[in-house]
Amino acid sequence: MDLGISGKTAVVCAASKGLGLGCAEALASAGVKLVMNARGAEALDASAETIRQVHGVQVTTVAADVTTAEGQAKLLETAGDADILINNAGGPPPGMWHDWNRDDFIAALDANMLTPIAMIKALVPGMMERGWGRVVNITSQSVKAPIPVLGLSNSARAGLTGYVAGTSRQVARSGVTINNLLPGIHATDRADALDGGVVKAKGITLDEARAERAATIPAGRYGTRQEFGATCAFLCSQHAGFIIGQNILLDGGATNFTI
Ligand code: NAP
Repeated sequence: MDLGISGKTAVVCAASKGLGLGCAEALASAGVKLVMNARGAEALDASAETIRQVHGVQVTTVAADVTTAEGQAKLLETAGDADILINNAGGPPPGMWHDWNRDDFIAALDANMLTPIAMIKALVPGMMERGWGRVVNITSQSVKAPIPVLGLSNSARAGLTGYVAGTSRQVARSGVTINNLLPGIHATDRADALDGGVVKAKGITLDEARAERAATIPAGRYGTRQEFGATCAFLCSQHAGFIIGQNILLDGGATNFTI
């Protein structure tokens, strides 16, 4: 299917690895020019170069912490009049409800709520003026089914979800869509880190921890960044202009509910 977005420009935050990289790759395969971001320059440059070689699109990199005002300014300076924004950042650490202090909450809110909101506020006005734009926020399955040890993530992502629910409907008439993609477990470094906690707690191997988790998923496996990226690219396509303010779950059936 031709996604109809060849030649457009996308800013993909937190994109040197994992789900952000999956989105960057899928957009590049649709002919979209990229501004890719991550903190570590080495992995970012390597991923960008691979995408240039494989897909032949223009890729600019911005090595910066997207959760800081300076990082956002640097990214926005390079982004110019971007047509597509993929919001992403690392997820907060797991823990217990009684251990998190104000600073922990502020850090989580900055990373997973206030940063995507700042990027939306900076880029969506230009998209509205030009009459076309796409925003996809990478959030989490935990938005629909909160994960107790990820209370910082649950809290921050709930805030972003509420903001998007209202804002997406305020901007829709201008041809700009804003939607959230909710990953369940996907095979990335983040999943390895979470499984590493299970390894420590249960004294089992990483492969055993993965197999245990995979067994809880109806699909019987972890998701891939390629599947995730393809869904993201579709949401950014010309075909997805009537999809507004949705929370789309990619979890292999793990969350058991009817609607
Ligand atoms: P990942 O494999 O650890 O990759 C994270 C990417 O984000 C890396 O490129 C990393 O590069 C970059 N990054 C992290 N913090 C950043 C920052 N402050 N500024 C700029 N770049 C940053 O993680 P992932 O699995 O793709 O997860 C992406 C998001 O989805 C996270 O918020 C995660 O909580 C959420 N999620 C993931 C899963 C899953 O199963 N994988 C499930 C539910 C939710 P640098 O470290 O070099 O900056």
